[in-house]
Amino acid sequence: MTFNDLKLSEPLLKALNNMGYNSPTPIQEQAIIPILNGRDIFGSAQTGTGKTAAFSLPILQQLSSKVPTPHIKALILAPTRELASQISENITMYSKFVRVSHTVIFGGVSQKNQERELRRGVNILVATPGRLLDLMQQGLIKLDKVEHFVLDEADRMLDMGFIHDIKRIITKLPAQRQTLFFSATAAPEIMKLANSLLKNPVHISVSPVSSAAPLVEQSLYYVSKENKRSLLKHILNTGKVEHALVFTRTKRGADKVAKELNSSGISSEAIHGNKSQGARERALKGFKNRTIRVLVATDIASRGIDVEKLSHVINYEIPEQAETYVHRIGRTGRAGLAGIALSFCTNEERTYMKDITKLIKQKIEVIASHPFA
Ligand code: AMP
Repeated sequence: MTFNDLKLSEPLLKALNNMGYNSPTPIQEQAIIPILNGRDIFGSAQTGTGKTAAFSLPILQQLSSKVPTPHIKALILAPTRELASQISENITMYSKFVRVSHTVIFGGVSQKNQERELRRGVNILVATPGRLLDLMQQGLIKLDKVEHFVLDEADRMLDMGFIHDIKRIITKLPAQRQTLFFSATAAPEIMKLANSLLKNPVHISVSPVSSAAPLVEQSLYYVSKENKRSLLKHILNTGKVEHALVFTRTKRGADKVAKELNSSGISSEAIHGNKSQGARERALKGFKNRTIRVLVATDIASRGIDVEKLSHVINYEIPEQAETYVHRIGRTGRAGLAGIALSFCTNEERTYMKDITKLIKQKIEVIASHPFA
């Protein structure tokens, strides 16, 4: 199956082509047409299956076919700040050639910029529950025009104690709407919530990503946040790392690491959602033809990076989602070649590392003898 078979519009197909997506993933194959047809969805799928595109593309298509208005027409709720920003970064790329605006809001940062974006008028709002309620109570957000509601990672939402927040948010949504519900598990309380929200849903289930590429040699460095840059430079200067793809959690982080490396004489470029398509292509080309030694990327921007013989992937920050780790290290060791994946882990990140080892069912060797241990 191709994306052409999924009745997606030209501008969306163009964006997918730009991103190097060749064919739809199973959840995209199953979800896109029913969503375009206005159906509710119960999707049993984890992050890593391509579910973000599965719900974002048909929402974008539905919204772009209407006359533009400044109202929030789609609300996407995600449990963590990381997931919310990832979804938003995805939408930035998918919506490149359509006139649909979006923004992301989450807690833990000042609300000023978020407020400014909201005042401009957005069509798709990606949000974590706490900050959303907060801004709703301040009268900055109205949900009475919402036509599409996505609850992503519902099981994690419940685990994180968001049930009451979610219920309060739902009371503010129009009853007449499309609801897309995603959860990796189908525990009774999840089904109860799903049943209360969904009308005659299409059930879709896809299998999770679970095992790390077996050929990838993985190791773990415990290091403080402050020492991560020194450790990175040390490894690049003393190890046998010719070429590396370095992952950071945020766009700003990617810029900072690239800048730091360049000022130490290690040629580096950052790629992320805020860079223009041209800048990303140039960086990628430089990395492929080896004029750039280190490419620093956020998870979303790294898609489509398919560098032959990529020897090293470095997790400068440990991803919150274990599946993201599998995707990251899958960039190395391609096509039967052994790859090496190094992870820098602070005390705070140990819980993420635990989730990762549980998912991949492998022990990762700890390198204790480094100067920044
Ligand atoms: P998600 O489950 O939405 O977080 O997606 C996981 C990863 O798969 C993302 O990094 C996307 O870049 C990538 N992805 C999603 N759909 C496709 C596709 N059809 N082709 C290639 N990569 C994709």
